[in-house]
Amino acid sequence: MSSIPHLINGERIAEQGRSTDVFNPSTGEAVHKVGLASRATVQQAIDAAKAAFPAWRNTPPAKRAQVLFRFKQLLEQNEAVIAKLISEEHGKTLEDAAGELKRGIENVEYACAAPEILKGEYSRNVGPNIDAWSDFQPLGVVAGITPFNFPAMVPLWMYPLAIACGNTFILKPSERDPSSTLLIAELFHQAGLPKGVLNVVNGDKEAVDALIEAPEVKAISFVGSTPIAEYIYSEGAKRGKRVQALGGAKNHAVLMPDADLDNAVSALMGAAYGSCGERCMAISVAVCVGDQIADALVEKIVPQIKALKIGAGTSCGLDMGPLVTGAHLDKVTGYVEDGVKAGAQLVVDGRGIQVEGNENGFFLGGCLFDRVTPDMRIYQEEIFGPVLCIVRVNSLEDAMQLINDHEYGNGTCIFTRDGEAARLFCDEIEVGMVGVNVPLPVPVAYHSFGGWKRSLFGDLHAYGPDGVRFYTRRKAITQRWPQRATHEAAQFAFPSNG
Ligand code: NAD
Repeated sequence: MSSIPHLINGERIAEQGRSTDVFNPSTGEAVHKVGLASRATVQQAIDAAKAAFPAWRNTPPAKRAQVLFRFKQLLEQNEAVIAKLISEEHGKTLEDAAGELKRGIENVEYACAAPEILKGEYSRNVGPNIDAWSDFQPLGVVAGITPFNFPAMVPLWMYPLAIACGNTFILKPSERDPSSTLLIAELFHQAGLPKGVLNVVNGDKEAVDALIEAPEVKAISFVGSTPIAEYIYSEGAKRGKRVQALGGAKNHAVLMPDADLDNAVSALMGAAYGSCGERCMAISVAVCVGDQIADALVEKIVPQIKALKIGAGTSCGLDMGPLVTGAHLDKVTGYVEDGVKAGAQLVVDGRGIQVEGNENGFFLGGCLFDRVTPDMRIYQEEIFGPVLCIVRVNSLEDAMQLINDHEYGNGTCIFTRDGEAARLFCDEIEVGMVGVNVPLPVPVAYHSFGGWKRSLFGDLHAYGPDGVRFYTRRKAITQRWPQRATHEAAQFAFPSNG
């Protein structure tokens, strides 16, 4: 078994201390070890990032962009290799892995506009002979902590933009599927990134705590589950750091009686079961307005769930691979048992499926619950597996109340042909990302990504314009060059144009 190292100051560094297994979820076998960084290792990365900052900060944004352009090219050239690494450790299908990489590359493209996005704001003659401008300056050393479910895309939400803005970066990726993340960071170096500007430390809570506690780390971007998001936000903020911490989700899709049902069913299939439901934007609740649409949905979707093509992610032409680990499979199966006990109707039971040749893989077939009610755990908590719950309500208002009462507010969507209903939904729903006939409304790279309520702690969303604001601090400069030979008396009233 090979051991996956850190990447510090442009060099692969082996961890001398603790390590953990990385599994191939399709076979159920441990295939690698990954080093878990000690505090001393994290400090090494911080020192490297700190040393690289002054020169990188002063590198012209156009030069930084040139490195990013080359990085984008290398990512495209290496798509197949990266997708395979993702699939081998995460379990998602190759097509899905290539899809997440492409969405990540869009964030690199956005960061390529560094000279444009860092231009600042300028006002001439704000007062007599006075000009004013705002500069957007980098923060220094910033850190990113990322989840297992998008080992390529989520890190690419963060460091290309942070680095384009002139910061240096320490990434602490998920210890469950670290190989693609490491390769991508190495490609950035191949593209010409100076040593120390991007460092990757693999690890767990010990590494995360070291980053939170380090005074040199000025800001943290986090994506992961809500309890850890809340912990990192409060511990980071307590120490005066800037923190954006994106958490978990329970995303509802509302089906109106006038929805185009065939297309809504196709959309729901992909959004609920794609990536085995391990997406923070996965649809896990279908809210049907009226029994008629609910019955029609069940009739149409059940055969499609039963026909899902499931197998090793690295095989071609599949709909779904395995869950990420055996522990996660047990957790999701536990929720299915809980739903049955609570009285929900398990219309499709995906437990116990066998994938020929991969009998020890962490597989679970698609599951569908009908007649789920808000008091059930399967409704309240994030399952993060291939489990779709149907809740039946009587009106759009009831559907919206249900969604607004939920503790999470990451994504939602409505399927309807009624523009008035769609507009009301967009206006009044308390969720950060909303789709109209779009099941996974993940904003494109030039907008920003983030949920509301307990799906995001902090003010600014990830990437796009909010990302630029997060990774820079504003400096407002007011400059005056009085005309020579004018004598100016002291002025005690507060200066104004009045
Ligand atoms: P996780 O919270 O377990 O782990 C995320 C990161 O935090 C990892 O790097 C992990 O090593 C670290 N971590 C774990 N436990 C820690 C602890 N006790 N102290 C400090 N750090 C710790 O999440 P996960 O299981 O890797 O990912 C799935 C979760 O991420 C889901 O809840 C999903 O909704 C969420 N997610 C959210 C978004 C979003 O944009 N809102 C995107 C992707 C995933």
